[in-house]
Amino acid sequence: MSSYAEVHLEPGEILYHEGEPNDCAYIIESGEVVLFSQVDGKRIDCERRGENAIVGELSILTNRPRTVTVEALTQCRIFRVSADQILARFERLDPLLRACIKTSLNFNTRMAEQISSQYVPFAPSTLSNARDIVEQFKFENDILEGLDNREFSLVYQPIVRLSNNTMIGVEALMRWQHPELGNIPPFKFIEVAEAMGSIAKITNFALSEACAALRRIRQAKPESADFYASINVSGKDIVRVGFVDLVAHVLDINELDPSTLKVEVTETSLINNPEFAAKQLAQLRALGCGISIDDFGTGYSNLAYLKELPLTALKIDRTFAGDAFANATSRSIVKMLLGLGKEMKVDIIAEGLETQDDVDTLRTLGCHYAQGYHYSKPVPEAEIIQTIMAKRNAA
Ligand code: C2E
Ligand code: CA
Ligand code: CA
Repeated sequence: MSSYAEVHLEPGEILYHEGEPNDCAYIIESGEVVLFSQVDGKRIDCERRGENAIVGELSILTNRPRTVTVEALTQCRIFRVSADQILARFERLDPLLRACIKTSLNFNTRMAEQISSQYVPFAPSTLSNARDIVEQFKFENDILEGLDNREFSLVYQPIVRLSNNTMIGVEALMRWQHPELGNIPPFKFIEVAEAMGSIAKITNFALSEACAALRRIRQAKPESADFYASINVSGKDIVRVGFVDLVAHVLDINELDPSTLKVEVTETSLINNPEFAAKQLAQLRALGCGISIDDFGTGYSNLAYLKELPLTALKIDRTFAGDAFANATSRSIVKMLLGLGKEMKVDIIAEGLETQDDVDTLRTLGCHYAQGYHYSKPVPEAEIIQTIMAKRNAA
């Protein structure tokens, strides 16, 4: 049974009892409940709550047992939100706001205890966008369950040296095979995971899986001795405390040299906390990992900031490849980006090469590395190993 259940109650059924420990709060999707407490053996009704209201939040935020019993007055459909989900959001609040809420909750709880023999009239508050919030939670729960059930996996797209068409590394890309909805593309779940806070779990998964795969791929002895894996990391991961230590640990257990792992971040993802992000990237670089700016050319291109970062590569976004090469402006932008890469002493990787024409144009422009369907779509690890073995056997 799903641990992220939706609760259905008939009139008179109890959602939880006063004094019970807490592990979640509830959003009432439909129906009405009454909150009551027992004072000297007498039932005191405190309040009714209906559609779009929350119950059970107080004991989570104050970390105390339930202060009331909740009973359904009508048929109810109620969505369960775990204490962890609530507390993760609470921790992300502005610290001042968090302090205000904590202070006010403590004060109210003390007041309520002092006058608990009397009826306490709270003004019920409802969420204006409860339906959207429930949908988001359901999607987040799907992501969390999907990770537990191993519905997520990684595929790997070769990164190629243009001068001799050698595969020098791979980019790890996440795939999600949902049991009912089928294949859900990353653009649909990465953004939600970032907004809802579960991106850390996705990134940790990508890091562990990609490093374990890289170890096996390197054992197949690719042509390039520096063969590497590149993982996509969100701005939220970069500023996560302990992230660099985690990377070091995962590399260590897979007996990988840190230089064989590259971390891809977009410039846009760093803008919320640019100074701390720069510090963390410097630590990753000091560890020995490579650092690439992804989708380069589409962000702010704040060169003053970028030059401060310890970068090893810029990846030119695929919107500049393909048809765009027919366009003189696009070609001159790519030329400019290549010049910039030289000046910054970083590698330039062109993304989204789909045809031999694209490859020829980039070679002419002086680009050294590329990635795209022309070489290979992202494929399972086994196919990367097969390609390496086939090339070795042919040599
Ligand atoms: P990205 O990092 O820019 O990855 C490149 C995307 O372009 C991939 O899409 C890849 O399949 C696609 N692609 C590669 N070559 C070609 C080509 O020649 N033509 C075209 N049209 N497309 C090409 P995908 O796998 O759907 O990933 C989309 C985005 O989702 C990624 O863009 C990345 O931003 C994000 N993403 C994927 N996996 C992860 C992950 O593990 N963590 C995070 N944070 N983001 C991820
Ligand atoms: Ca990428
Ligand atoms: Ca990209």
